[in-house]
Amino acid sequence: MDLGIAGRWAIVCAASKGLGLGCARALALEGVNLVINARGDEALQAAAAQLRQRAPGIEVRTVAGDISDPAVRQQVLAACPQVDILVNNAGGPPPGDFRDWEREDWIRALDANMLTPIELIKACVDGMAERGFGRVINITSAAVKAPIDTLGLSNGARSGLTGFIAGLARQPRLAGNNVTINNLLPGPFDTERLQKNLSAAADAKGASLEDIRTQRRKGVPAQRFGEPDEFGAYCAFLCSAQAGFVTGQNLLLDGGAYSGTF
Ligand code: NAP
Repeated sequence: MDLGIAGRWAIVCAASKGLGLGCARALALEGVNLVINARGDEALQAAAAQLRQRAPGIEVRTVAGDISDPAVRQQVLAACPQVDILVNNAGGPPPGDFRDWEREDWIRALDANMLTPIELIKACVDGMAERGFGRVINITSAAVKAPIDTLGLSNGARSGLTGFIAGLARQPRLAGNNVTINNLLPGPFDTERLQKNLSAAADAKGASLEDIRTQRRKGVPAQRFGEPDEFGAYCAFLCSAQAGFVTGQNLLLDGGAYSGTF
């Protein structure tokens, strides 16, 4: 299926590894030109080289820096000739107990996982509406649907973004001009972040990493973790010309782990 987006431009934030890179790869294979971002320049350049090799016909630009820094966001926006597609992503906040968190911890989480996507959306959506095409994807978390006790900062900040998007996506000025905004909610995907979380759990329980991996995997009805390329393919479809009637949705990719009828 031709997704009808070859030649368009996308910004993919936090895209040197994991789910962000999975999204960038899927868009690249559809012929979408990219501006990709991450803090570490070395991994970012390696990701760009990989994308150029996989999709020689596209242009890939890089901007290294923390996407929650307004100056970095300006550089990312300036590097993109026209934002047709925006994939919002950033690292997740650390786990912990809310009794230990100060105001600054909350501000950091809100900045990275709620206010940064909102600022980027603000910079892009009216231009998208004028041009009659726009796709915004926010990578959030399955924790928005089924909160994880130790990830209170993530539960809170991402739920704030989710509530805001629910209203924004339904503005006729956007939805009526072929601008869609959707949230993708990953369950367990086999990325560096998951690996770190499992290692921390293994240390805390005094168990082996392999035992913890197996235990966690068996808790997923699909009996496995997701692959970043599966996540990317779903993202690319939502960015397609054909997906113009899907907006304001929270789409769970979790191998059936969320146990609910709706
Ligand atoms: P990952 O494998 O650790 O990759 C994170 C990517 O984001 C890296 O490229 C990292 O590069 C970049 N990054 C992190 N913080 C950044 C920032 N402030 N500014 C710019 N780039 C930044 O993580 P992932 O598993 O793909 O997770 C992506 C998002 O999905 C996270 O918010 C995570 O919490 C959420 N999520 C993941 C899972 C899962 O199972 N994987 C499940 C639920 C939710 P640098 O470190 O060099 O910046």
